[in-house]
Amino acid sequence: MCYAIPGKIESIQEKTVVVDYFGEKRKAHNELEGLSVGDYIYAQGGFAIQKIPLDEAKSILAVWKETFFELQEVDLQLSRLDLNPGSVSQEFLKILDKAVEGRELTRQELLVLIKEKDKTALKLLFKSANFLRQKHHKNSCCVHGIIEISNYCHSACSFCGISGENKNITRYRMSQEEILEAAKVAIQEHGFKTLVLQSGQDCGYSIEELAQIIRQIKTNWPALIFISFGEVGLDNLKILYDAGARGLLLRFETSNPELYQQVNPGKELASRIAHLKKAYELGYLIITGGLIGLPGQSQEDLLNDILLAKELHAEMYSFGPFISHPQTPLANHPSALAETVLKVIALARIIDVVQAKILVTTALETLDPESRREALLSGANSVMLNVTPLKYRPLYNLYPWRAHESESIRDQINDTIGLLMSLGRSPTDLSI
Ligand code: SAM
Repeated sequence: MCYAIPGKIESIQEKTVVVDYFGEKRKAHNELEGLSVGDYIYAQGGFAIQKIPLDEAKSILAVWKETFFELQEVDLQLSRLDLNPGSVSQEFLKILDKAVEGRELTRQELLVLIKEKDKTALKLLFKSANFLRQKHHKNSCCVHGIIEISNYCHSACSFCGISGENKNITRYRMSQEEILEAAKVAIQEHGFKTLVLQSGQDCGYSIEELAQIIRQIKTNWPALIFISFGEVGLDNLKILYDAGARGLLLRFETSNPELYQQVNPGKELASRIAHLKKAYELGYLIITGGLIGLPGQSQEDLLNDILLAKELHAEMYSFGPFISHPQTPLANHPSALAETVLKVIALARIIDVVQAKILVTTALETLDPESRREALLSGANSVMLNVTPLKYRPLYNLYPWRAHESESIRDQINDTIGLLMSLGRSPTDLSI
């Protein structure tokens, strides 16, 4: 199964190619040598990543053509705004109408949405977000892979099971060969086009080693590489970009600086934000967001988090629930509610309606396996599958009972494709 549809190059102007997908035109930044008009390519996240031989492209397109329009139709049906407002307040309905019409909501209106508790009203909110997702992004859904290369960490985040303060876990650090093998399996065997490499804040790899790993993956297999090693230092971001990384996954966790310091002792929110800003300046695609359900976090904080992600030019929003881990200082703080996460996803869709790719996080699926489906029907349009070797997955123990901890890559793919097809989504990265 492919997670991208081959597109045909219609025109090339300097580093920009215009690509046709069944009549839809998209632009992609090109760093490949020797592309010509008429060639077929895969593009991800707005980057051309691989030229595809003509015969191969045509046979893949023949398969896609059959299902592409059928899937779009299923999605369209499921995204209908057949709203039954019941007893929902006029004020709430008016705000939703305004959002659905594409008009910008005021802060006050956004607060009304995020503070809502009534189940019928929330259903309407989620449906409206799904309607907007379909209207602006059609049925595309990014499917990315993540390799958790090391669980060593010298940070002391009070929410995190792999924090350096937790002396009761087994640590691992994958060797360069193991990382390359995992990348090869994900890209070559399973067809992933985008890979995230993630670790704790781990000084065990030098920046040169990380750069070499990225270079080797890029040289051997075509893929868009995101890095997620925490705060690597502003200068090192450039080194990793030059090695071929094109995306940064770094959550700011919370936009509230005092709360940030409470849960990340010894760290400053400003430093995390500086990394995100620098990365954007360098040309990285940004995946960012926060943790929902931290102690003392208010609804206003959550709204500010979404607004901050937008301000930081998030290409993809990653908001997940805090899940309590018994070996952390927050062991007794309750995990977030899935419903709050759905609210944040829906609001992110309303706030950044045209640009946002919105991720369904593994943490949300851990809270409730049904919530992946619900999130995709509340504005989300991205999923990330865990392609870390099975022997290491349970050790990346951010929180207990992580979803997909012992599921093979093949099983995850089959489940995901089944779900996406049932929702009429194309497992692609078409919205480039
Ligand atoms: N070292 C990198 C960093 O600092 O961003 C990436 C690794 S970090 C462990 C990845 C993410 O896991 C964090 O951004 C955090 O939001 C999430 N996380 C950690 N502990 C969690 C918990 N108990 N519940 C839910 N998510 C958690």
